Parts: sequence; structure tokens; C-alpha cells
Amino acid sequence: MERFAVLVVGGGPAGSSCAFALCRAGVSVAVLDKARFPRDKVCAGWITPPVLRALEIEPQDYAKGGRVMQPIRGFAVARRGDPGADADCGEVVSYGIRRCEFDRFLLERSGADLRLGQPLESLRREDGEWIANESIRADWIVGAGGHFCPVARELGARPGAGEPSTIVAREVEFEMTSEQQARCPVRADLPALYFEPDLRGYGWVVRKGDWLNVGLGRQDAHAFPARVTGFADWLRAHDLVPPDLPARWRGHAYLLHGEAPRPLSAPGALLCGDAAGLAYPRSGEGIRPAVESGLLAARALSRVLHLCGDGVERTYARALIERFGPRRPGASFSGWLPARARARVAGRCLASAWFAKRVVVERWLLHREVPALSGD
Ligand SMILES: Cc1cc2nc3c(=O)[nH]c(=O)nc-3n(C[C@H](O)[C@H](O)[C@H](O)COP(=O)(O)OP(=O)(O)OC[C@H]3O[C@@H](n4cnc5c(N)ncnc54)[C@H](O)[C@@H]3O)c2cc1C
Repeated sequence: MERFAVLVVGGGPAGSSCAFALCRAGVSVAVLDKARFPRDKVCAGWITPPVLRALEIEPQDYAKGGRVMQPIRGFAVARRGDPGADADCGEVVSYGIRRCEFDRFLLERSGADLRLGQPLESLRREDGEWIANESIRADWIVGAGGHFCPVARELGARPGAGEPSTIVAREVEFEMTSEQQARCPVRADLPALYFEPDLRGYGWVVRKGDWLNVGLGRQDAHAFPARVTGFADWLRAHDLVPPDLPARWRGHAYLLHGEAPRPLSAPGALLCGDAAGLAYPRSGEGIRPAVESGLLAARALSRVLHLCGDGVERTYARALIERFGPRRPGASFSGWLPARARARVAGRCLASAWFAKRVVVERWLLHREVPALSGD
């Protein structure tokens, strides 16, 4: 049986960020993931600069290996079918990455012992230690296995069983031919966002180098497949995507921080990223909370492991609430407007260049008022 101080289950952005910071702090850590990397993850792949700052990644260094790091200066915002506004911030405010590249990069540089292609099949606690798959012992376990994380299930999560405030999202990503690139009306540095008529979500068309990512996310799963089809038809009818846009969109549900019913920690265990349900309520951005929670978990763990203190579970949960705010219902895509006023007011607001830039892009999407997570 192998022995580690910490076992991280899931090697996505949450797990690899946690492992990276733990390794730096001299803690022995293994990452177990059911997938072999590079693996894909359904995601538009849009990240904000604080993610890179917190992980000490220089965009140009990352791009050197031929990896996609698409600079974004703002967003073209509209309610679908209404006139919209270009919210160009005049500087690089965001990036588009491909998850197959980004996640592999983060995991490989973490320095952790990697156990890939190995799902967590069994987990039990014996004499204050965790025993995973009857082959790995660890003092602490970090659940970073995404929305369906097996550690989160062990702590009581019930994905798919009507957890409140679930986003459903589907996307398709494909490499455009040079002809498709020449005809694509969406600017690479100004991805297009199309808010749903009822403001319960938004669709996107994001160019990343030669790649195009098209998707739809909603807070309401009712008739979602039909809505996806309707959105794709609308994009095609307006020549916003190639006519032969691939038909097979993929996706899954995940939770918004405000109302996620999941615990953040339990004795000997911490949950990070989607496993804890931490995505930003207004935008659905999940990579930044995943990375930051992974780093905060590592911070709490390395303190306790080095100083032999206790209370790591509480310290971590408190750090998350300080960072992302208390869990409270109502902060969602459309929570800023009473339901009855939505249809009337929303279209006008989204067509205003001031509202699109200052409110939608700078506050809801970029969280520019929240600085990058700094080291200790
Ligand atoms: C369609 C769509 C578009 C999105 N677009 C964006 C976006 O543009 N920007 C953004 O910030 N967020 C976006 N998100 C959200 C974002 O993808 C997630 O919030 C983010 O990936 C969470 O990271 P994570 O590390 O917590 O989990 P994940 O990235 O899901 O990683 C979990 C890892 O755990 C592993 N795992 C799962 N089960 C097991 C098991 N039983 N045993 C071992 N390993 C296991 C998986 O293989 C995976 O590698 C989008 C989500 C969807 C669905």
C-alpha cells in the first residue's frame, strides 16, 4: 500500500492547483484521475487573468508550446434577436484556452505523483486515515472530481437528484477550416454572448485561434435539448456559425455557489471546484473558483501538516466563504431583475454600451473588482 499525506481525487483545475501548491510546500501528494491526460472537458475554455496570476503563468510562456491562448478584449453582448453592444475594454481582459491543453499543462507541472486512468472505486476511513482503492493510504482527501465527484458523493452530494441552482450547459468545439475562419463574423478578441430571451442563461460563440466553441448554458433544465437545437438553428439562420456546425453538442450540469447544497469540508476531507459547487452565479465561470479553492485547500492543509495544528476543515470552509461570499439564494444570471420586468427591461439594458461594458462584462463576467488570489 502506498502512503501520502494528501490524496487529491480529480486532476482538473481544482485538483491540479491544489496539488501544485501542496508540492511546493513540501507535502507528499498523489492525484488520482479516472482519465488519462490529455483529456477533454466540455467547457468554453474562457478564463480570466486572475486565474493565470494566481497560478503564476505568463500567457506568452504558456503559448510557447503551441498551446492556444487567445487574448480577449471584451464581449459583444445582446439579448438574442435584439440589437446589442460591443463592450470592448481596450486591453486584454481575458483569454480563451483549450481544456485538453490547459488541464494537461497544469497537471504535469504540479509535481504530484500522478495515478491516471484510475477511477476512485472504493474509499473508506480506518484509524483516522483514508484508504482509496485498497491501494493508497492518505491522512487527508481532497475531492476535486468535478460535479459528479465520488468524494462529494461520499459526503452526501446527490448529483442529478434535483440539487437546486443547477446550471445545464452544452457546447461543441471544432477546428475551423481556413474558409470557415475567413467567413466567421465573430471577432476572436470579442466573443459573442447571446442572452436568452428570459435571461435564464446565455449562449456563446467563442473563437480560440483556429478553433470555434459554440454553446448554451441555462439555469433551467426544462426542454433544454430543444432550446439547444433552437439556438443552433438561430445561429445558422443568421450566418453566425458555419452551416455545417457539428450537431453533437456535449455537456453536463454543475452548481452555482449561491445555492449549492454541498458541504465544503468534513472530517479529514475538503471539497474543491465543481465538487463543492463553487461556480460564479452570474456568469457560470467555474475555472477561477476551481483554481482558487484548490489553492486555498492547499494553504489550509500545508499549514496544518507543518504545524501539526488542527481545525483545517473549518479554516478552509471559512476561507471559501470569505473569498466567494456566503451561500445565499437569488444571485443568478437573472436575479438582478424581478421576473415580471425581465422581458421589458433586459433587451434595452443589454443594448446599452455602458451597461454591457460596466455591468455585464466588467462585473458579472470578469469580476474585475475581485483581485487575484495572492500567496500567503
Ligand atoms: C458546457 C460548459 C461550458 C463551460 N464553460 C466555462 C468557461 O468558459 N469558463 C469557466 O470558467 N468555466 C466554464 N465551465 C465550468 C467549468 O468547466 C468547471 O467549473 C470546471 O471545469 C471545474 O473544474 P474542476 O477541477 O472542479 O472539475 P473538472 O474540470 O470537472 O475536473 C474533474 C476531474 O475529476 C476526474 N474524475 C471524475 N470522477 C472521477 C472518479 N470517479 N475517479 C477519479 N477521477 C475522477 C475527471 O476525469 C476530471 O479530470 C463550463 C462548463 C460547461 C459544462
